[in-house]
Amino acid sequence: MNFQSKRLNKRFVFFRVFVGIFVSTLLISLPVFANINVFTCEPEWKSLVQELGGDKVKVFSATTGLQDPHQVQARPSLISKMRNADLLVCSGTDLEIGWLPLLLRRASNSNIVVNKPGYFLAAEHVRLLGLPKVIDRSQGDVHAAGNPHVHTDPKNIRLIAKALVKRMKMIDPANADYYQQQTDNFLTRWKKAVKKWKKQVKLLKGAKIIVQHASWDYLLNFAKLEQVATIENKPGIPVSSGHLHSLVRQFKHNSADVIIHAAYQNERSSTWLQKRTGIKSITLPFTIGGTENVTDLFSLYDETFRLLSDAVLTENINQSSSNN
Ligand SMILES: [Zn+2]
Repeated sequence: MNFQSKRLNKRFVFFRVFVGIFVSTLLISLPVFANINVFTCEPEWKSLVQELGGDKVKVFSATTGLQDPHQVQARPSLISKMRNADLLVCSGTDLEIGWLPLLLRRASNSNIVVNKPGYFLAAEHVRLLGLPKVIDRSQGDVHAAGNPHVHTDPKNIRLIAKALVKRMKMIDPANADYYQQQTDNFLTRWKKAVKKWKKQVKLLKGAKIIVQHASWDYLLNFAKLEQVATIENKPGIPVSSGHLHSLVRQFKHNSADVIIHAAYQNERSSTWLQKRTGIKSITLPFTIGGTENVTDLFSLYDETFRLLSDAVLTENINQSSSNN
């Protein structure tokens, strides 16, 4: 190699290094665009989509853990989020009947209409509980089509994840392998966690629970707990003082282990009943963000079963020590 070609070669190496640095800087500074835009109605579905979609999804939840998912205002900001969505993930079974149809009409996004892969209702993929013999909404019953709070059983999450990943693969086939890998990884960790929770709730079997709203049918079924009363006469119907007084009379002679309500609910009636019956009342997170330390689906059930175990088992200890 003569002097001239050596100089040229040096220049070429310098040029390649320069281009390399330039391209990497450009890639780092470019925003990462998500492949699927997802609109979820509740935080539990946002968390699930994040688990299955990793960095290929951008997810929004219409509600927080401190909001009542039965009653949401159809704000313009929600409509604009819905307009840009490729996939809608909600609980279904009428949970969102008071606000979702209106939002869908206003957004008029053909990706997320009934029968399209982008329209996903979680409750359609599990066995529904609380199905009434006759549908009757005349008295304002918000669970007239069956209990919509399906996420409170961790076993349902597995079924919903399996159905949901199919939709994500249909919407973004180029990343199908990625979504499947994310899901397999999630389901392996989930299976382990469910095994742990099953063991934990064995100690609670048969515990008698009073619920404020029928939020927990699936949770009680998973943990084999017994619902002995509800503070609401019917789901979604305001608590009446007559019903509260009848509960005080009922639990003067009958026992219950704990009164539970969701973080988003007003605890006044539960506290009132606790004062008059001596039955401990506790707040459960219900969903992600319900309490500060609940940041994903795993911590949701960790915290729920920890709180339930503390309440029920301590109650039993107190009762047995007072019997001695
Ligand atoms: Zn409800």
